Amino acid sequence: MQDLTEKILELIRLASTNLPPDVEQALRQSVEQEAPGSAARGALETVLQNVELARQNSTPICQDTGTPIFYVYYPAGWSTRQLRQQIEAAVVQATKKSYLRPNSVNSLNGKNSGNNLGGSYFPTVHFEEVEGETLTIEIMLKGGGCENVGAQYSLPTRVGEPSQAAGRDLAGVRKVVLDAVQKAQGQGCAPGILGVAIGGDRGSGYYASKEALFRPLDDANPDPELAQLEQRLTKEANSLDIGPMGFGGKTTVLGTKITHLNRLPASFFVSISYMCWAYRRRKMTLSGDQVTYA
Ligand code: SF4
Repeated sequence: MQDLTEKILELIRLASTNLPPDVEQALRQSVEQEAPGSAARGALETVLQNVELARQNSTPICQDTGTPIFYVYYPAGWSTRQLRQQIEAAVVQATKKSYLRPNSVNSLNGKNSGNNLGGSYFPTVHFEEVEGETLTIEIMLKGGGCENVGAQYSLPTRVGEPSQAAGRDLAGVRKVVLDAVQKAQGQGCAPGILGVAIGGDRGSGYYASKEALFRPLDDANPDPELAQLEQRLTKEANSLDIGPMGFGGKTTVLGTKITHLNRLPASFFVSISYMCWAYRRRKMTLSGDQVTYA
């Protein structure tokens, strides 16, 4: 089996320092929607200057380089144990090179491991065997501030002021997603991107809500009903006047991505992962010796 440590290191560097083009384009379009001289416009302009500087200097886009989360789709015959070792070796090197901030803290004694390793879940690595010969590794660097404002609802419930019923249907999903955005205000470093999973259990729901965030910002959900709900939620979130960093304005959310999982008859969870403007996600594909980054 090939040693992919250096290639994964480059994947991490790219994710940490070079914002994907679809996210940058969405931020640039948002600037034009905000009033000249407004705090919202100023915040977005500063964000974009920062994005350019980070790319030029190969330095992190944000001081919080987040939780490194990997989704690995591997062909039959690959060792997931060795792949995990190589990912961990790349994470250690990326920390030494300051592409990643040491972010892994023991929850009982507060001690930072100093190298972004720690137990079985730091970094988080999900594996899935796929057909064919191509290995794909996707990475997301999930910031702490935006992770803190993620939310999970068990429907039916009541949300909002005055409170209103959110039932077990798409109308209920809409209400709880908007409630989560309202509660997040600017604390998740808006403008955010919403990854939403309908159904599953509490664990699989959050897992799938993050997986949904790997979709390109400008794609459309293949399910017409969900596509419509995604557009509606983005539009309605942007009418809440929360705005970039909570300064008010028209850009609270850059996009919404919804997926769904089967559920138990007894449960109806809606899991919402809020991703900040530092929407750091990148992909590496390996076919034979050929590596491609996107
Ligand atoms: S939420 Fe995102 S942009 Fe805000 S500090 Fe954390 S990583 Fe940075």
